[in-house]
Amino acid sequence: MPAAKPVLWIIVPCYNEEAVLPITAPLFRAELQELSDKGKIAASSRVLFVNDGSRDSTWQIIQDLSARDEHFLGMAQSRNRGHQNAVFAGLMEAKDHCDITISIDCDGQDDIHAMEAMVDAYHDGCEIVYGVRSHRDTDTWFKRTTAQGFYRFMSHMKVELIYNHADYRLASSRVLQVLAQYREVNLFLRGMFPLVGFKSTSVYYDRSSRLAGQSHYPLSHMIHLAVDGITSFSTEPMNIMVRCGGLTGLIGLIALIVNLVRLASVGEAAQFGVLVSLILFFAGLILTAVGVVGIYVGRTYMETKARPRYIISERTPALEKAEQKEAGEKDAGL
Ligand code: UDP
Ligand code: MG
Repeated sequence: MPAAKPVLWIIVPCYNEEAVLPITAPLFRAELQELSDKGKIAASSRVLFVNDGSRDSTWQIIQDLSARDEHFLGMAQSRNRGHQNAVFAGLMEAKDHCDITISIDCDGQDDIHAMEAMVDAYHDGCEIVYGVRSHRDTDTWFKRTTAQGFYRFMSHMKVELIYNHADYRLASSRVLQVLAQYREVNLFLRGMFPLVGFKSTSVYYDRSSRLAGQSHYPLSHMIHLAVDGITSFSTEPMNIMVRCGGLTGLIGLIALIVNLVRLASVGEAAQFGVLVSLILFFAGLILTAVGVVGIYVGRTYMETKARPRYIISERTPALEKAEQKEAGEKDAGL
């Protein structure tokens, strides 16, 4: 049963965003006001900025915002841990204080006004609402092609993803309580939410260019995210390796039989060449297979360490107070 006027927390990860934060913070604030004026969310809704170990003045800006307006809250990670961990830290912080969260990047690329349709979907009974880009015209050709290749590849790898959905999404606190029970350290949130289940839907919006500042997602980061996504959610690469291994083994066996049969008629030198190329082929294949297994063993190793997924070093005063109150209520068994 959705709350009549849910308390919404907008979760905004920020890494070196001093150029764009002063532009987008008032836009988030205005959206909160509009939704609350329309009676769709509670007036006590908040924007929570998660500073992900920025090296510029981002944290200072967040502190100033929160000192000036109680609707802005801030928390800082102890160091840069990456986008996924920053969003996760914000969601875990928010889940005990609000009814719904909406995570969104701080650069204004995702249409902030799509939040209204997300909240409407919540009122219709959905607990997860995925923000989906209706087109990628504003992305560079390179970004568009690699991103689309990524979704296709992930679907081949049998990882369930919402096409063209990144991390702009609404999630109810009930969903987040369940998400907290997923213990993985290598986070890939857009793969985790579909696993949680509950009633969900998508809201389509136009994605624009960054309002200011620069992207932090170069190709190397995207490859890293893809490997995280595949290895955290799918053992398909191992299955493919087993199939390839079986197939090449069969080819090797046939080649061996052919060679044995033709031993009498073909010159020894020709046979030598065939054998060397076969050995090279198998060596390459075995190395690849061992590498794939190695990635999974490495992942397992990291997961068994069960290191903390985020470490909060600081909170703005209002958030600190809310946290202490929540902790006191938990202690009192309320
Ligand atoms: N971000 C973060 N930690 C990082 C890198 C990025 O919290 O290590 C944040 C960043 O401030 C932004 C969001 O993640 O709010 C998405 O980053 P960006 O806009 O650079 O990525 P792109 O939209 O180009 O994929
Ligand atoms: Mg961006």
